[in-house]
Amino acid sequence: MADWEDLCNRCGQCCFEKWVEEDGTIHPTSIPCRFLDIVSRECKVYHKRLDVGEGCVKLTPKLVAGVQWLPEDCAYRQPPQKKGRR
Ligand code: SF4
Repeated sequence: MADWEDLCNRCGQCCFEKWVEEDGTIHPTSIPCRFLDIVSRECKVYHKRLDVGEGCVKLTPKLVAGVQWLPEDCAYRQPPQKKGRR
């Protein structure tokens, strides 16, 4: 799973609260998770983020394919780059 997690560019956009309208439209807010270092954009509790009660979820390929709340430019949402000759 290390290769998968290496895709993340640590932009931190997914670590801001979202506001969801009744029709499901999702709006990002400027309110960060309390564990996000807003300067480095790194999670201060990354290795125990799933246990601290903030609703953090582990991003897997299956989950990423099914969620709407990750930003369009999230590295996990980009098509895979082809390796080899150009
Ligand atoms: S939005 Fe995507 S690329 Fe940015 S920190 Fe979150 S998972 Fe990583």
